[in-house]
Order: sequence, then C-alpha cells, then structure tokens
Amino acid sequence: MSAQNPVFIPGPTNIPEEIRKACDIPTLDHRSPAFARMFKPAVAGIRRVLGMQQGEVIILPSTGTGGWEAAITNSLSSGDRILTARFGMFSHRWIDMCQRHGLDVQVIEAPWGMGIPLAEMEAALRADTSHSIKAVLATHNETATGVKSDIAGLRRALDAAGHPALLFVDGVSSIGSMPFDMAGWGVDIAVAGSQKGFMLPAGLAILGVSPKALRAMDSATLPRTFFDFRDMLKAYAAGGYPYTPAVGLIAGLAKSIEMLEDEGLSHVYARHHRLAEATRRAVAAWGMSPCAATPDLYSDTVTAVVVPNGCDGTELVQLAATKYGVAFGVGLGEVAGKVFRIGHLGMLSDVMLLSGLATAEMCMADLGWKVQLGSGVAAAQDYLRKSANAALAEA
Ligand code: PLP
Repeated sequence: MSAQNPVFIPGPTNIPEEIRKACDIPTLDHRSPAFARMFKPAVAGIRRVLGMQQGEVIILPSTGTGGWEAAITNSLSSGDRILTARFGMFSHRWIDMCQRHGLDVQVIEAPWGMGIPLAEMEAALRADTSHSIKAVLATHNETATGVKSDIAGLRRALDAAGHPALLFVDGVSSIGSMPFDMAGWGVDIAVAGSQKGFMLPAGLAILGVSPKALRAMDSATLPRTFFDFRDMLKAYAAGGYPYTPAVGLIAGLAKSIEMLEDEGLSHVYARHHRLAEATRRAVAAWGMSPCAATPDLYSDTVTAVVVPNGCDGTELVQLAATKYGVAFGVGLGEVAGKVFRIGHLGMLSDVMLLSGLATAEMCMADLGWKVQLGSGVAAAQDYLRKSANAALAEA
C-alpha cells in the first residue's frame, strides 16, 4: 500500500477532497445559463478575497505567469517605463517578462532575503518629475526567499511622491493565505493563481483590475489576443467566455471560496500565521534561520531555510522525495543549494505540518547534518500546543 503524503512545496498545495470532487463534474456547456450560475458566485467571491470595491475580476485559463502577461499587455505599450525591484526569483522573472515585451524597466536591486526597498522606490518616483513611469510592479510574497513586502507602504511611497503610476501586485503566493487589501492599498492589478491559497490544481490566473487599469486598456498597444481583457469583459457581460473556459476548475474555485469563507478569511490568515510561526520555531531549534532578513519580512506561506555552511539544501529536497516520498521546495536562482523551502499554505493542519518538520529532520540526520532528531518538532509542538486553545477559542 502506498499512502499519499502531504506536500510541503509552496504551491501547488494540498487539495482538499471537497475541492477535488467539486472539480470533477460532467461536461457542462460553457455557453449555458448553468455555467453563468456557477461563474458569478466565483467572481463575487474573488472580489471579497482580494478586498476589491470597484473594478473587474478576470479569470483566465492560465497560471500566475499568464496573469502577469495579461496585466502588462492590457495596460502598457512597447517602450513604456516601469519601476520595480529585484530581490528573488519571481520578481526577477517578472522583470525578464517585461524586458522581453520591450518595456523600459527601471530595476532597483535588493539582496535576496530583503523585501521591496521602499525608500529607494520612493526616491525613484520622486525623481521622475515628468511622470514617465507608467507602472510600479511589486511581488507581495517572494516565494523564492519567503519574504513578504509591505504593499501598503509602497502605496504610501507612491502617494508621498505624488506619482500617478499604476500599481501591479503579484499576489500569487499570498492571496487567499495572507491578508490582501486591493482597495485599501490602491492596487490597480492584483495577480493570483489557482494552485496556491485557493487549493486548486494549477490552471487559472485570477486577476483583480481597478477602474484606472481598465482605462489604461484603451491606449495600451502591447499585442494581446488570448489575454485581451476587452474580449473577456464583453463575453462576461453576456454570461460567458470568449473561448472555452476551464469549467471544472471554475466549479472548484466556487467551492474553494466557500471553504475559505466558511473558515472565515481572518481565521484562514491566522491559521497560516500560526503554522508559519511553528515552522520558524523549528528552524530556530535546528540552529538555522529563515532567508528573510528580519521578522517583519517573514512570509506566512513559505519559509526558505538557510542551511549550514557545507550543506546542500537541494540534497535534502531530493532525499525527502526519494526516501520518504515527501516534497519540499528547492532553492532557486541565487539561493539554489543554500536554502530549502517549506511551504505551509493552503490545506494544512498542525498534524500535517509536524509530519513535514519530522521528515526534514530525518533527512538532515541521514545527510549527516548536525541536528538533534526531534528538536525542531518539539519546538513546533510546544508552540502549537500553547497556541491551539487560543486558535480554537477564536474559531
Ligand atoms: N509569482 C510568484 C510569487 C510565484 O510564487 C509563482 C509561482 O510559484 C509565480 C509568480 C508564477 O506562477 P505560475 O507558476 O502559476 O505561473
């Protein structure tokens, strides 16, 4: 018998049985009223999860990367100037995409493990007195390093500089797991994917688009067809899609939102925080530290654990997969080998997390790393036991 272990990669996440079943529906005509009845609540739910007050939700058959492409091609033109920061693999890939689209990208470099450098961003915005920067791009949760950035602070920087640039936020590994306030933070386009906080298989790019970003659509000339918001919005108004949607995933999305809201979004966020904190306690007990430089940067969805000198994080990930059938995330780019990543997002309980921490410890011992078996697990258990009552009382 082979039992299915939970995964501890930072997405795709574990899929609840209810969501798997919800995705598994007979063929349904996507031009029928039955599809519209299923789609509308999903869209309404996304508005609540994103904290949207105005604008439109766009759900594309794609992934987070497609969501990025949709964001830039629907709002910008070749040669447009954008401002962003590079501090990890995903912020880097977004920059690369913008450059390949012929955008003029002003990049502020920050060490991997740091977040968006707000002061430098504000200085760059203030220096742009002619307001040639059309958009500011921000990775809310840098999944490669486990770093959460301050999007409210970035909005304050834009406002303090009196700069009218659009604000685009990659929330692929934060939305649905960590607080996100599109209206409060003045986000113009928010990008999410189905396979992280929404606990679905990969296959949907989910975007919130502000009225200001919708207005930019008319003058934007970057080529787009499959991702053209104008086609999507026209088809939505008629209750459908401009092409064949991923009907099963949309059925699953409606269930996912129902589950998130049944738990209560604030409780979902608190659960993620608690599991993240338990992970960090384990990491400290192993004598290691998160890649995120300071506690204000700690992500509640993924911890990139810096491994001791002479150890290779990728070896641990490979061993966990081959010997124990458990998936952790490898280090990417600049931190390849230097970290391994523990994803703690989506459907995850205390007990599931403890099994992952125990597996990581077994791998460390197998690899001859200096770690005492049980040390991290005990630290996490201690924290989880003590915080469990508070979590239940709040539920
Ligand atoms: N942005 C972030 C922060 C991510 O973590 C990921 C994927 O892990 C992406 C973008 C790319 O999303 P996808 O793999 O769904 O295309």
